[in-house]
Amino acid sequence: MLAYRHAFHAGNHADVLKHLVMIQLLDYLNLKPAPYRVVDTHAGAGGYTLSSAAARKNAEYRDGVGALWALPDAPPAVARYLEVVREFNPDGALRHYPGSPALARQLMRPQDQLRLFELHPTDHRLLDSEFGGARSTQVFHSDGFAGLKGQVPPPSRRGLVVMDPSYEGVNDYAVVHDAVAEGLRRFAEGTYMVWYPLVHKPQSQRMGQRLKSLAPKGWLHAQLSVQKSDERGFGLIGSGVFVINPPHTLFEAVQPALPWLSQALAQHEGATHKLEQHRV
Ligand code: SAM
Repeated sequence: MLAYRHAFHAGNHADVLKHLVMIQLLDYLNLKPAPYRVVDTHAGAGGYTLSSAAARKNAEYRDGVGALWALPDAPPAVARYLEVVREFNPDGALRHYPGSPALARQLMRPQDQLRLFELHPTDHRLLDSEFGGARSTQVFHSDGFAGLKGQVPPPSRRGLVVMDPSYEGVNDYAVVHDAVAEGLRRFAEGTYMVWYPLVHKPQSQRMGQRLKSLAPKGWLHAQLSVQKSDERGFGLIGSGVFVINPPHTLFEAVQPALPWLSQALAQHEGATHKLEQHRV
């Protein structure tokens, strides 16, 4: 039973980190005219209205993208992220937040292909109504972990896989690992971006280490920790993004952004960040 709805979390600190990295990856793919495919295995509803009852409930975006909206002197990768989010808010007021499908479609070119998987019936309906008829786009109401196999390698052998599950089940960490391993068996040269929550669970703490073993040809691992867990040690304290086969430009783009973000988004004095990479 799927309970998670991304509308309650759209634009929070985890989305900032994830979407900032995703934009860097898309910008890099766009440097060459050859077509590519984006496979978004956990697409959500596509885009979000921040005045909706769901988004207003905990107003998580206010401590995420909202906290950055008017700040001066953002490092280039943050400025680029804000520039893209502003394209969805042309009058300057922050009212709409793009999900990963909306960001992808905004940046992809006519020759590129988008594949979107979403299991939740309501979010799938919203996603399909917005993206179902779009050119070179296919929307699936099915399991993205399993669906990935049928989407890689893309015919052009250029592609980005975005895997951003809700981690509702403890097994999701292992399933992510296995789905990425299967994807890499079929499409070793693809770029894979995995998001995961930083919570006080061994599966979360081991996630980076487990994914490293899949990526002998190179990886980048970024973490942003800005929130305190509750008094019982529960709750999201931050998030991690693990990129397999990252472009060589990614480390340099993310390096100045992370400390700046950990200050700008800090909800307590112990906010931290981490960035590591392996290149061959
Ligand atoms: N990637 C989206 C974004 O950045 O805007 C947010 C995705 S949200 C964190 C995770 C989504 O995965 C939820 O909408 C949930 O319903 C969906 N989901 C959960 N398990 C799934 C599965 N096995 N296959 C496809 N979608 C799934």
